[in-house]
Amino acid sequence: MRIKMIYLAAGNSRRFGSNKLYADLNGKPMFLHGLEALEQVLYKDPDTELTVVTEFERILEYVKERASVFGDRIKTVPSPEREKGISYSIRAGLLGERADYYLFCVADQPWIRSQTLLELLKKIKTGGYAGGCVSFCGIWGNPAVFSDALYPELLGLTGDTGGKKILMKLENICFAEAKEARELTDIDRMGGNDMNFLEERIQKDGVVKEGNVLKVDSFLNHQMDIGLLEEMGAEFKRRFADAKVDKILTIEASGIGIACIAARYFNVPVVFAKKSHSINLDGDMYIAEVESFTHKCKNQVIVSKKFLNKGEHVLLIDDFLANGCALQGLISIVNQAGATVEGIGIAIEKGFQSGGRTIRNLGIHLESLAIVDGMDASTGKIFFRN
Ligand code: 5GP
Repeated sequence: MRIKMIYLAAGNSRRFGSNKLYADLNGKPMFLHGLEALEQVLYKDPDTELTVVTEFERILEYVKERASVFGDRIKTVPSPEREKGISYSIRAGLLGERADYYLFCVADQPWIRSQTLLELLKKIKTGGYAGGCVSFCGIWGNPAVFSDALYPELLGLTGDTGGKKILMKLENICFAEAKEARELTDIDRMGGNDMNFLEERIQKDGVVKEGNVLKVDSFLNHQMDIGLLEEMGAEFKRRFADAKVDKILTIEASGIGIACIAARYFNVPVVFAKKSHSINLDGDMYIAEVESFTHKCKNQVIVSKKFLNKGEHVLLIDDFLANGCALQGLISIVNQAGATVEGIGIAIEKGFQSGGRTIRNLGIHLESLAIVDGMDASTGKIFFRN
């Protein structure tokens, strides 16, 4: 059996600057993290060989040096057309001798573990699958592996389309479960400097309105960027890794999308509190009163007693935390049910309003992915908490 591992380290970074692969990450250049995981696979699985698609000087030098250990099982190939998209680097890596399987890894995914890769290869070798990929809580990610039968389709990819499209059409595929969400994280989304992925996006696409309102409707709560929501879901899972969560509770409408994607990572159902002006109080509902920050009106929010039970551990999720009224309503509903608030995950906390402090003072584990400490509607500037 012959397995060609292809490490896509050609660059083509638009968001991070030209050589993000050289960026220091925990004392090592970014490109080295994934490469070392692949070297572990070379050590442990004699069927494997490694082609590094790159033209970066430091990576070329590194691989040349490692050839003294791995001989012709490790080599580099250039990708002169990398600027045209990932499919050009995929093709560059595939050309040359054929193999039984092709495993593609990207160089900006530094937390991938060699054990996960070995697990994926073990599955594909023993199960006769057409392809497979690394996954986490049901979310598909990279690296991905393809049998030689798919070689023509891989060569036929165009532009910036990767192999996921091919995998999605297959029935006979396998998954290797990552140990933690960040194994699937590619560093483009994490932000390159001191801003995290969500802060970067807010900075880029958020609009500051008069009255301390931040509009994020182009990516979060009207049009929704699902890739970003997945990243947020993975991050919530990481931050609440030790929490016991039976259910996620959110509030309509803008919390629903975020909560649903997060729920994939926790593998639990989502309940959303409904807003209602006039309710038939038939006793089957938990009810709380919530003042809307954006609409300046009072709503009653309701949750059917059927969907929240005594003893359950509930994670609250919402898009914004401003004065904390929405969350107070949800906390009240959880309390009415005799359930426990296990934690609260917020996309954007407006740190200059009182909600965060109030909730933290209640002793609840609150995690906000981005905390905005100030906004200036006249300049559009947004300041994040470090
Ligand atoms: P709170 O109840 O904490 O005062 O406000 C939270 C709710 O108000 C969130 O569910 C969110 O929908 C809305 N909200 C508060 N501040 C903002 C904001 O700056 N922008 C947007 N789009 N919604 C906000």
